[in-house]
Amino acid sequence: MQAEEYNRRGKELIDYITEYLTKIRERRVNPDVQPGYMRNLLPDSAPTDPETWENIFCDIEKIIMPGVVHWQSPYMHAYFPALNSWPSLLGDMLADAINCLGFTWASSPACTELEMNVLDWLSKALGLPSHFLHHHPGSRGGGMLQSTVSECTLVSLLAARRAKIVELKESETDVDDSVLNSRLIAYASDQAHSSVEKAGLISLVKIRFLPTDEQFSLRGETLQAAIEEDRRKGLIPVLVGYRAQCNLKIVPAGAKEGLWLHVDAAYAGSAFLCPELRDFLSGIEFADSFVFNPSKWMMVHFDCTAFWVKDKYKLQQTFTVDPVYLRHENSGAATDFMHWQIPLSRRFRSLKLWFVMRSFGMNNLQAHIRHGIEMAKLFESFVKADPNFEVPAQRHLGLVVFCLKVHEQFNCTYLQQKWQGLHYATIEYYTVVLKARVQSVLWNKTIV
Ligand SMILES: *Cc1c(COP(=O)(O)O)cnc(C)c1O
Repeated sequence: MQAEEYNRRGKELIDYITEYLTKIRERRVNPDVQPGYMRNLLPDSAPTDPETWENIFCDIEKIIMPGVVHWQSPYMHAYFPALNSWPSLLGDMLADAINCLGFTWASSPACTELEMNVLDWLSKALGLPSHFLHHHPGSRGGGMLQSTVSECTLVSLLAARRAKIVELKESETDVDDSVLNSRLIAYASDQAHSSVEKAGLISLVKIRFLPTDEQFSLRGETLQAAIEEDRRKGLIPVLVGYRAQCNLKIVPAGAKEGLWLHVDAAYAGSAFLCPELRDFLSGIEFADSFVFNPSKWMMVHFDCTAFWVKDKYKLQQTFTVDPVYLRHENSGAATDFMHWQIPLSRRFRSLKLWFVMRSFGMNNLQAHIRHGIEMAKLFESFVKADPNFEVPAQRHLGLVVFCLKVHEQFNCTYLQQKWQGLHYATIEYYTVVLKARVQSVLWNKTIV
């Protein structure tokens, strides 16, 4: 393909994408295919000779779309929201074309500098403490974009582990790092996301999941008691991971014990764009790291995870390798994000975030969040009014937990009549796919 054809085909593909997204409600959300469905639709090996674009393009509807779950459909209610928007799509189109790998400042200065500035914008828009800003007098912190919250949780645990090992080495000079590692312990609530468990698996830091109160929040007393018990056993507490929907009830205990406080606001973070929703942030000044996914509710499509740390030097002492072939004349003076993360290379992710923040403006982004919460309240009222369902936990922001009550009269035919168009229900926590009557009220998909 040459530039002229790219230009023509690119415009056609944009037409296709626009039509796909604007008419997406006509498609069935969940594909009707079995594992291996694609095997017979594709030749055994890659073509030896070039194929025409027409041929390739035809196969999108024939081979790909039949196996796609249409996450952007307003009828899609599974997992969690993963919204996109037109300016976001345009941002990645440009980033893909530039295709720079911004590992150091010198490898593409605009990539690093836009990311630093946009993360400062975002931090201010969420009302985060100024020690998370790159550009602020006395700040040792800053924000960056990573691919997922899971990765940031691991990165935080690795940084907390490194800092603790460095501290322990001052008095236990001859003890091997791996021996010190085996004495470390981190905490999370029993409601924490599975990424916390995974971070423990990888880092070999023991994770203790602590019981929560009737609001499903971890309490300071519980944490304090666990820390005291573990210290008596000779263990060394390093980190506590916390979900932002729970209010930071653990702050006094965590701060007193010198634990690294990592806040996972993967879903809730977008809500903090609205000042009236920042109750959950009280105590945030004690957090060492804070992470959230603009790729969930803020209409910046995947992947885009915003991650801030209070002390960037703790990240850098964990991840810095300094091969001579990556040094540049501004090494040290400039920010080299390769020292803040696990991989070397990084995409120009901040463009789509910048496009979204500018083309919506804070007012529209706030309106979008508020509308989502109104929709959740409406949905909650439907659920509460229906004797077949219950709401077993308090609604937080746009998150409504509900389940089917299995009682004597329970039978599917009755339910199907009652919830007209009820299409498919898995009686699993969170994962309920409802159609028709409650369309688009659980997760708001409207683009303002
Ligand atoms: C979605 C979610 C995650 C996982 O996010 P990834 O970016 O896919 O790793 C972690 N924690 C919470 C609270 C979430 O909602």
